[in-house]
Amino acid sequence: MRTYRVPMVPGPTAVPPAVLAAYQADYGSADLEDEYFDLYAQTEGQLQLILQTRNQCAIMTGEGMLALWGAVKSCLKAGDRVLAVSTGLFGSGIGDLARSIGAQVESVDFPWNAVADPDQVEAAIKRVRPKMVTMVHCETSSGTLNPVGAVGALVAKHDVPLFYVDGVSSAAGTELLIDGWHIDLGLIGTQKCLSSPPDLAIVTVSERAWRAVDEVGYQGYDALAPWKTALSDRYFPYTPYWQGLAALSQACQLILAEGLAAVFARHAQAAQACRQGLAELGLELYSGQETYSSPTVTAVQVPGQLGWAELDKRLRRRGVAVGGNYGQLAGKVFRLGHMGSQARVDLVQEALEALREALAGE
Ligand SMILES: *Cc1c(COP(=O)(O)O)cnc(C)c1O
Repeated sequence: MRTYRVPMVPGPTAVPPAVLAAYQADYGSADLEDEYFDLYAQTEGQLQLILQTRNQCAIMTGEGMLALWGAVKSCLKAGDRVLAVSTGLFGSGIGDLARSIGAQVESVDFPWNAVADPDQVEAAIKRVRPKMVTMVHCETSSGTLNPVGAVGALVAKHDVPLFYVDGVSSAAGTELLIDGWHIDLGLIGTQKCLSSPPDLAIVTVSERAWRAVDEVGYQGYDALAPWKTALSDRYFPYTPYWQGLAALSQACQLILAEGLAAVFARHAQAAQACRQGLAELGLELYSGQETYSSPTVTAVQVPGQLGWAELDKRLRRRGVAVGGNYGQLAGKVFRLGHMGSQARVDLVQEALEALREALAGE
């Protein structure tokens, strides 16, 4: 099925009509039109408000992974020391990504159903003396939210040159303080809490990160370098995606009009309703700990007697789409994505009702 009555997949999330409508214009050639540069500047300003940063935001054409790759390749050289904080699929994947370009990666690993312990990260920083610490804010596959602020303070205390944070599934759903938490490279996608289609990738770049970009000199489709001067020089490295940017700006506008505090509260309420309803159904959080939970996604143990394939089938029959899982969590843990447009208590209640029926019958 293409669309579900109750969309609960943790990205791509349901796109609001006003955002979809932004695609329906036959825009001219972005490079040649003042309006495009104005739109880019406007969208960057909106993102800076949402992400609470004064840093530049590179808005690139591609899915969120482009941000993750582009920032690694643009700021690291072979042999650079990296400390990868891993509490799950994305955290360990980022370590692999840095390894693939020849960086010397040490990981500090935590169980996938837990969050990072800042004391252990600090000990690892002292031991490894990395050029970059990498970390994931919301581990989407585990439904957990890492203490990025606490680790950011340690990164600053120990003068680690670069702090790389994947905020793809937390940005615009819960507080993510790019500047306040000393984040040099903030990696963001459009298809999670921003509820726009998966077509743009955003990287917030600090002054320190720009210096690393200059030093490394990486060139490629995913390179950050051209974005430093793209707006001021009115020169983009490839034909910009006007429709996608118009949609992203509209998505940001919806969030800012609602107000950041209200948006975050809506996510917290949806998550709370979700966890409470799951407990009433006798289902267990993957992490087992409410305090680890992300306000944007809840990861749940698949009830053993039913199995994932059957559970998924029963939910789909009821018009409910949830997320399965990957790697070591495949078949064992499923996810309810109450993020962006899907962070609604009524939608969560419908999903819970379908879950109740699926557990009780066919
Ligand atoms: C969604 C997501 C990404 C982007 O990856 P895709 O699965 O390719 O969409 C990166 N990091 C996190 C934490 C994500 O949730």
